[in-house]
Amino acid sequence: MRDGILVINAGSSSIKFSLFLSNGDGKPLLSSKGQVEGINVAPHFIAQGPDGTVLSEQHWPADSDLNHEDLLKHLIDWVEDHLDGASLVAAGHRVVHGGPKYASPVLVNDSVLDELDGFVQLAPLHQPHNLAPIRALAKVHPGLMQVACFDTAFHTTNPKVATTFALPRQLTEEGVRRYGFHGLSYEFIARRIREIAPEVAAGKVVVCHLGSGASMCAIDGGKSVASTLGFTAVDGLPMGTRTGNLDPGVILYLLQQKGMSAKEIETLLYKRSGLLGVSGVSNDMRVLLESDDPHAAEAVELFCYRVNRELGSLAAAMGGLDALVFTAGIGEHSAPVRERVCAASAWLGISVDAAANDRHAELISADDSRIPVYVIPTNEEMMIAKHTRAVVRQLAEAAQ
Ligand code: AMP
Repeated sequence: MRDGILVINAGSSSIKFSLFLSNGDGKPLLSSKGQVEGINVAPHFIAQGPDGTVLSEQHWPADSDLNHEDLLKHLIDWVEDHLDGASLVAAGHRVVHGGPKYASPVLVNDSVLDELDGFVQLAPLHQPHNLAPIRALAKVHPGLMQVACFDTAFHTTNPKVATTFALPRQLTEEGVRRYGFHGLSYEFIARRIREIAPEVAAGKVVVCHLGSGASMCAIDGGKSVASTLGFTAVDGLPMGTRTGNLDPGVILYLLQQKGMSAKEIETLLYKRSGLLGVSGVSNDMRVLLESDDPHAAEAVELFCYRVNRELGSLAAAMGGLDALVFTAGIGEHSAPVRERVCAASAWLGISVDAAANDRHAELISADDSRIPVYVIPTNEEMMIAKHTRAVVRQLAEAAQ
């Protein structure tokens, strides 16, 4: 019997899904994907094939009163009608925070869910939305196994020195420390490097996950040893609308001198800053690269400058650099950004082949580059599907 795994990635107003069906040798293959968006506003459901062909689409009016649970029921009914003879064995969820405890994916039960609720205060903008569909799915499909896969898990191999803030010990012990995020993406890339360039996989690699959320990770011998995201997903690089790292004195200035409330500061840091804040034009790198506005050019320059600085910092954390990898929306598709970052990193012995970079080749470094530079598409959903399948298999084996 072929297995079906439903992958769910839920945010504040949307639930993205991917359905993976196992092929003959048991490997998960993407069968369909889609999302419900406009939740609590004017819901819209779309399902597409792997090539983007629209398989189903439905709009509901703004006054439709459909809640998370109703929409998830619609989604799961659609999925069950499109299993192509396979049986749905589990749902895998992206959960942003596994706290200090979870270093690997876990089968969700009531006590695990309670524990994950405890991490809401560490990621208030994401964690509640990640957990809501787990609860809703447990109601609409009570028999279905659910597995939580964490964005923090891949970074649990970071040494203590990389995760500690210079704060009084008691706060560190309470959990105020660096966790790192985008871990499912970095784990997928670490596995791909083992397939593409096994000699590099054993060495020191910096991966740049440059999307609307952006971060970088130092991976030594396949393990995360440092990353630019910290306690929350607003640290490190400037992002589409997030500041990235900021002198904490700026927060005090906003509170004490400008009289801003905590909520106003949160909105400023997460929604009004980054590429959007600096450019005043857009949070989308494509728009900025095409714009004639000097502030757009400044935003691009700042983004590339900060990537370059973090590259030096992460290489220093590992004591060397054997390869550089670009991934996610900007990393996979923006030749100008890669070109600028690599040009600024020439001192590390990095040199890019312009033609390979322009055609987004897998290997974009020049023959004489001391360090190979790769463009590797990430696939967090595939990583979740693989983890979920592994958890289901372990349980089945343990039950035998
Ligand atoms: P992600 O969050 O990984 O889906 O990345 C989304 C971001 O990638 C968008 O907001 C764009 O800024 C960026 N992006 C996508 N395609 C391109 C492109 N061809 N050139 C520059 N940036 C791009």
